[in-house]
Parts: sequence; C-alpha cells; structure tokens
Amino acid sequence: MGEIPKSHPRYASLMMREKVSQAMKKGLVHETGLIAHGRGEAFDYLIGEKTIPYADDAEKIAAAVLLCAKNPVISVNGNVVAIVAKECIILSESIPAKLEVNLFHRTDERMKKLTDELKLQGAKKVYGDAADARIPGLKHDRGLCDKEGIFSSDVVLVPLEDGDRCQALRDMGKTVIAIDLNPLSRTARTASITIVDNVVRAVPNIERWVKKLKNEDRKVLEDMVKSWDNSKMLKDVSSFISKRLNSLP
Ligand code: ATP
Repeated sequence: MGEIPKSHPRYASLMMREKVSQAMKKGLVHETGLIAHGRGEAFDYLIGEKTIPYADDAEKIAAAVLLCAKNPVISVNGNVVAIVAKECIILSESIPAKLEVNLFHRTDERMKKLTDELKLQGAKKVYGDAADARIPGLKHDRGLCDKEGIFSSDVVLVPLEDGDRCQALRDMGKTVIAIDLNPLSRTARTASITIVDNVVRAVPNIERWVKKLKNEDRKVLEDMVKSWDNSKMLKDVSSFISKRLNSLP
C-alpha cells in the first residue's frame, strides 16, 4: 500500500486493514473476518487506540496464568495470523505454550494455509490438523480441536473468540484468557480474564510480562491470579470509555 504515507494519522490502522484484506485474498481470512475486524476498530477508537491501564493489568495477569499453567495453548484464527502471527509464535516460545489453529468457518484448505503460514513465520509445531477431539456443546466443525492441544489444555489464550466457544471452553473447566476490544461482547463477559486491547498490542505486551514474571515465585503468581476480579475490570473499562467520551472537546 505504497500510496499511504507513514505520516498519515491513520497509518497503523490502515496498514492493519491492508494486512487483513490481503490475507482474505490469499484465503487465510474468511470474509466475515473483515466484519469482525471492523467491529474491533470501532472499539479501538473508543479506548483511544492504545493499551489502557486496565488492559495492561489484565495482560500481566494473563502472563501469570500462562506461566502457572500445565498445558497452555494459544488458539489462533485467520485474523490473528494476518496481523499478529510472529508475535504469537514468540509468545508461545517464551511461555512455552502450544499453538493451535481453531476456526469458526473451518475448511481443510484454510487450516492448511494457516498452518503453512505459521510455519513459514517460524512456528516449529502447529496443532489443529489432527482434529481428533471435540469441544462438547458445539455443533459442526467449529467444535473440532486437537486432543493433545486445546482439548487437554488447562489454560487457553483466545485472541478473537466467539461467545459460544468461549462459554463451551469454560464449561470444560478451562481458564480462558480472551483478547477482545469489545468489553460488551459475550466473549468478554464469559472469559476468565478479558483483555480489552488490540491483539497487535496485547500479544507483545503479554510476552513482555512473561519475561518479567518468569523467575517470580510461583506462590506470588498464584496469589496475583486469585485476586483478579474480571467483572470489576469490565465495569472499570466501561466507565473509562464513558468518561473519555464525555470529556472529549
Ligand atoms: P460475541 O459472540 O463474543 O458476543 P461477536 O459475535 O461480536 O462476539 P465476532 O464477531 O465473532 O464476535 O468477533 C469479533 C470480535 O473480535 C469483536 O468483539 C471485536 O471487537 C473483536 N476484535 C476484532 N478485531 C480485533 C483486534 N484486532 N483486536 C482485539 N479484538 C478484536
């Protein structure tokens, strides 16, 4: 997208759009992924397109949860691969956690394209292809997952999930960390930890916290996690947004 100068005030946002659009043309992103991205953009505008302190707190707790997990998995879809693939791979290595492709609109072709893209970008192992287990309560192919991956995980990081699947993962007893710019979505309200931030800022920031907390005493991490109140944080975010809107000139 050479015609957009770096000085354009919406440069970062326009480049992200371009990445999602290109990824759709390559068959990595489903067409509804463009709509989901647009909804995310609208909420990003409302929070000021930067990581707000409530999101940074959630990103720190997410790092602690991931470090304490026995079998953590990062679940990725087309949009995530389009805009934040490399950072997800880096995060998966530093925890360490497994990477699994998990799609709402699943086709073998798209699964293969996304797995190949992640490998091209440096992922050593990508789960999702075996599809030898099911998330109970989810009909059709969107319930498919890997026995060694999401199915047997205790903690799942789901950047951009839908509400149903988030609920189904919670019903399996898993700790679900969701990254969702919409604090009102069912996903945001169902997750154990919700990060109201753009995935492009959230994933590297979780990784920064993972590095910082890696050598921290486990008991300290567990205490941090125990004290997390997700519904309070969501209320705080809503009030942050309304105060911000009311104070705009
Ligand atoms: P739910 O089922 O949870 O109520 P939904 O139907 O809105 O949510 P989808 O449309 O499947 O969910 O997913 C899109 C969600 O992802 C939206 O809530 C949107 O705010 C969020 N989203 C889109 N792009 C980003 C992004 N780059 N970073 C973080 N969140 C994003």
